[in-house]
Amino acid sequence: MARSFSGQSPSFPETLDPDGWLRPALRCPSPNFNDRPPGEVVSLLVIHNISLPPGQFGGGYVERFFCNDLPVADHPYFLTIQDFRVSAHCLIARDGAMTQFVSLRDRAWHAGASSFGGRTNCNDFSIGVELEGADDLAYTAAQYLALTGFTRLVQKFYPAITRERIVGHDTVAPGRKTDPGPAFDWDHYFDLLNQPSIGSPPLTGDPSCI
Ligand SMILES: [Zn+2]
Repeated sequence: MARSFSGQSPSFPETLDPDGWLRPALRCPSPNFNDRPPGEVVSLLVIHNISLPPGQFGGGYVERFFCNDLPVADHPYFLTIQDFRVSAHCLIARDGAMTQFVSLRDRAWHAGASSFGGRTNCNDFSIGVELEGADDLAYTAAQYLALTGFTRLVQKFYPAITRERIVGHDTVAPGRKTDPGPAFDWDHYFDLLNQPSIGSPPLTGDPSCI
């Protein structure tokens, strides 16, 4: 999936529509979601990585995987995952471009068997964001900036997502998952979050709608 990116202006999401879709972001609706439990408060952000085939970027396969449209003939690895039915709310590509697959109001299938703060099934109460990448390969500056903007936006709409409730997949599924891996620089990410001038979108939506 070709995208243009100048390297100067990563795609900060600027607002969240009442139906839970970010603007601006590419939309690639996935069928892999269901309702959150009634009355559930979204209170956790889970950061992942993914690349398909593993370690390769930009082929559009992640998008097709999350939409159950993976062309299995294109790579042997795809045969091993062709029956998976998974998704995430958003993907941040290497160039910082954001694609959204599931409304933030809905329950994406990203965390699997998981627990945090004494609760299991983190998908019930979390937002899942994927960084296109691999555990041991540095993420791009554009990805950190886009993730910062995304985080800042979701925290405005979901204030229960405090800094302590921003975690990696490895934290909610220890021993089973390793992403976003040692390459993810948590200090740098939280440092960016602490700088109000970075990734700070205007609040143009109505939080009461969410
Ligand atoms: Zn993951």
